[in-house]
Amino acid sequence: MTYEYVDPGPTPRAASPATAKVMRSTRRRDTGPELRLRRALHRRGLRYLVDTTPPGTNKRRRADVLLRGPRIAVFVDGCFWHSCPQHAHLPKRNREWWRRKLDGVVRRDRDTDAELTAAGWAIVRVWEHEDPEAAADRIARMARDRLGEKRGR
Ligand SMILES: [Zn+2]
Repeated sequence: MTYEYVDPGPTPRAASPATAKVMRSTRRRDTGPELRLRRALHRRGLRYLVDTTPPGTNKRRRADVLLRGPRIAVFVDGCFWHSCPQHAHLPKRNREWWRRKLDGVVRRDRDTDAELTAAGWAIVRVWEHEDPEAAADRIARMARDRLGEKRGR
């Protein structure tokens, strides 16, 4: 699978304060959902790197949280930018531009998943609307399983 970047064209001016707020928040580090997940992982005894490119990959894709031992890359995906099935929406103004833009984000996500999977990383994507405790449980279980498999070899 190859990922081709499709330029959606020049960025339109935000049509409303709400849209402007969403646009400003793109790829911001240390968002609330990320911090809550990190705290929940830390409480479970997991240690991780933050905003790091997983070793062994060629593309410079950064994982929000990286667990090196079990080789798990975690992405906390914003509902708007990553088109969560529950909260995705296209702004009414500049609709076509937004469709191209948001489609591009999703295609890049899938390309990142393929790239990291090929390099031996497990991918966990957590929606910003998800309960961070449940997500941390899921990641902790996966870490245990993957470490167990390693030792069993
Ligand atoms: Zn959502």
